Amino acid sequence: MLGFFLQKMSKIKNNIKDIYNRLLKQSACNLDIKLLVVSKSQSVKNIEEAYDAGQRLFGENYLQEALEKIQQINKPKIEWHFIGPIQSNKCKLIAENFSWVQSIDRIKVASRINEYRESMPPINVCIQINISNELSKSGVQPHNLKAFINEMKSFRNLKLRGIMSIPSNTNNPDKLSEEFMELRKLYEEIKFSDPDIDTLSMGMSNDYLIAVKYGATLIRVGSGIFGSRELI
Ligand SMILES: *Cc1c(COP(=O)(O)O)cnc(C)c1O
Repeated sequence: MLGFFLQKMSKIKNNIKDIYNRLLKQSACNLDIKLLVVSKSQSVKNIEEAYDAGQRLFGENYLQEALEKIQQINKPKIEWHFIGPIQSNKCKLIAENFSWVQSIDRIKVASRINEYRESMPPINVCIQINISNELSKSGVQPHNLKAFINEMKSFRNLKLRGIMSIPSNTNNPDKLSEEFMELRKLYEEIKFSDPDIDTLSMGMSNDYLIAVKYGATLIRVGSGIFGSRELI
């Protein structure tokens, strides 16, 4: 009985360990890859278990749900990333409560977050790219990225760190590789003109090993750590 209990308790920790082992094997010992634990729809208890396993970066998609958890989980060095779609009326609370926002894809939203971040250190920002060209997906089109970055230049309270993308909803490794390669190219291009850019956020539970092969510096993993989503 106790054995079963312990086994169940350490599932999250084991999944995290497995991810690091796979990363090590795959990336020829590039230990610089960051793991963002995507904790949407996960309970405080599960998030704390990941924290106790050494994780510090957590990603949330839904503002209200995230704010409740951020208040409850007040741990040293924890870093909250907003990764969901952003409505204009959410900008204030995102600016006030997160260290990163990875899903910037409209100038209006960038401008508002910049405004509400005035009295704090700059917020770290990734621009979300629509790499699959699906109309339903949010994100800046690749050919518009440079103009978008130029428009953001006056926003002093945003610190541009790189790009984030969700690829096509497919298991076809060739299609995924093609998209990750295109993202890598975009990333190199913008990094060339701005040495502060250091983040290529791509790869999720089902494709992070492919993403790492194409140079991801940050992967976002949810179900691969917690199992399928549970309701709080
Ligand atoms: C949910 C989500 C993830 C994690 O997806 P999994 O397949 O559960 O790993 C990563 N990035 C974003 C933007 C998400 O919304």
